[in-house]
Amino acid sequence: MTDERPRHFIQQIIDEDTRTGKWGGRVHTRFPPEPNGYLHIGHAMSICLNSGLAREFGGKFNLRFDDTNPVKEESEYVESIKRDVRWLGGAWDGPNGGGLFFASDYFARMYDFAVELIKKGRAYVCDLTADETREYRGTLTEPGRPSPYRERSVEESLDLFERMKQGEFPDGSKTLRAKIDMASPNMNLRDPVMYRVLHASHHNTGDEWSIYPMYDWAHGLEDSIEGITHSICTLEFEDHRPLYDWYIDAINEGRTGDGSGPWGKRVHHPQQIEFAKFILNYVVLSKRNLIRLVKEGHVRGWDDPRMVTISGLRRRGVTPESLRNLCAEVGVTKFNSVRDMVLLENAVREHLNKVAPRRMAVLRPLRVVIENYPEGGTEAFEIPNNPEDPAAGTRRVEFSRELFIEQDDFMEDPPKKFFRLGPGREVRLRGAYWIRCERFVKNDAGEVVELRCTYDPQTRGGENPPPDAEGNVRKVKGTLHWVSAAHAIGAKVRLIDRLFTVESPGKATGDFLDDLNRESMQVLSGCRIEPALAERTADEPEWPDGIRRFQFERLGYFCVDAESKPGALVFNRTVTLKDSWARQAGKE
Ligand code: ATP
Ligand code: MG
Repeated sequence: MTDERPRHFIQQIIDEDTRTGKWGGRVHTRFPPEPNGYLHIGHAMSICLNSGLAREFGGKFNLRFDDTNPVKEESEYVESIKRDVRWLGGAWDGPNGGGLFFASDYFARMYDFAVELIKKGRAYVCDLTADETREYRGTLTEPGRPSPYRERSVEESLDLFERMKQGEFPDGSKTLRAKIDMASPNMNLRDPVMYRVLHASHHNTGDEWSIYPMYDWAHGLEDSIEGITHSICTLEFEDHRPLYDWYIDAINEGRTGDGSGPWGKRVHHPQQIEFAKFILNYVVLSKRNLIRLVKEGHVRGWDDPRMVTISGLRRRGVTPESLRNLCAEVGVTKFNSVRDMVLLENAVREHLNKVAPRRMAVLRPLRVVIENYPEGGTEAFEIPNNPEDPAAGTRRVEFSRELFIEQDDFMEDPPKKFFRLGPGREVRLRGAYWIRCERFVKNDAGEVVELRCTYDPQTRGGENPPPDAEGNVRKVKGTLHWVSAAHAIGAKVRLIDRLFTVESPGKATGDFLDDLNRESMQVLSGCRIEPALAERTADEPEWPDGIRRFQFERLGYFCVDAESKPGALVFNRTVTLKDSWARQAGKE
């Protein structure tokens, strides 16, 4: 199937580059997370974009940990990020894999490049404190002032930089700065800091380094070293692009294509391209806010199925295909705009509708006794696994005299338009028989606890009965899902809903916690489900991530939770069949 969507601006840039042979026809992208938290859906869009472009153009895709800041980074995050990127299909070791890299592995090369810039008179060691540096930098309306250390000799800077590396100076006492332009209208070019002194242990390099590179200096070098062609980042880095280019140009000064220049061979100069962040309503996305939800116990962890972390989405039953489809659907733009949660939910519905087998599960059971069905008798029906896909086959579902249906599929005194059960009313049981409600039984509290019904043997398989003697045809409007009481097994079902009740959490009060949806996870423990759900059956699809997903008829899409065990089954609702939020909003 060809993609009919218009090509977005990054695809157009690459089309043009391929046409002109700019990179010798190469396309090499990367996803460069800082391992300081779990990835969220915004990162998912970046992974799908970068790995998708590599796949589309027959190029390569790298996963690179941008681990240049020792303080906030942890190995736990490295592992979770690897798992998430792989799950999304951003395989760095697959056919389009360029490899797995750590920016910290380049520390020595970055250091050598920095020494080179000092020797070229393009960088100097500065003794200003962080506060002083800020003050000297000036403002958007006022130029900065040169640091008193700006004209320090190359020899002195080389000596001090070496000693910074040896760990001779305390944290924050010295920096290495690029000598650019203290009057530049672009603040990023006012002698930016390249290195700071920091005596901190790094997850990869341990205590080897007492200086750490700043993002702008490090990032372009990482891209250059890996031979990245299109370095795709988010819009807030647009103002940093001149610096990205300046650093690589400064390294290439005195270098030539054949290596005959005084500094040797030119280094690769990638192209930075910025696009608008993926922003979604009804969620909070930034790491800072996600951490707060976890640390303060508003959710059960990073992979709580209500979280829009990739691990949360996975646990909720969202498929990688639906996230890739969503990414293709929203494309990329140069303008920040908030995307509607419905786009995500619809992408999930669309994919699961095609592939999820249908099953019957009763969440709030109400007992039904079929009085004219033989006591102790059972029979089995063959019910399609997926009406959308005949190849998905059928399954056997046992029927007997006592069944469960949903409590809210019965009303004692139903309005006319209620097409489910009520006294004297008739419905179809999916794939089984038509039944009529003759009576109902209440408990002492006045709750309906049992329906006494009769069935019509002529409706076997749910078929219409033949016309009666006068040629009248009986009709039913409602079809209910059901389970046989004797065969059904118990399960716990978590009804997952949006974590926030409003489009922009925190907008009204300044604190997003004020907009938490108190009913975002309703746990039902007395559910009765088809026995076929207990363990994987041969007719289920092979889910690459091992997460079994289903459509519970009439209820929504559900998956088996990571904590589910035989005898203690737990399901999560991935998404409802229809957009219930739009319906609710319409009612108001
Ligand atoms: P956050 O603070 O929201 O967790 P971040 O930008 O600090 O995100 P990084 O680890 O620095 O996270 O980002 C890794 C990559 O993911 C970067 O290339 C960044 O541009 C991209 N990215 C982060 N958030 C989004 C988003 N919402 N939409 C698209 N790409 C994103
Ligand atoms: Mg970041």
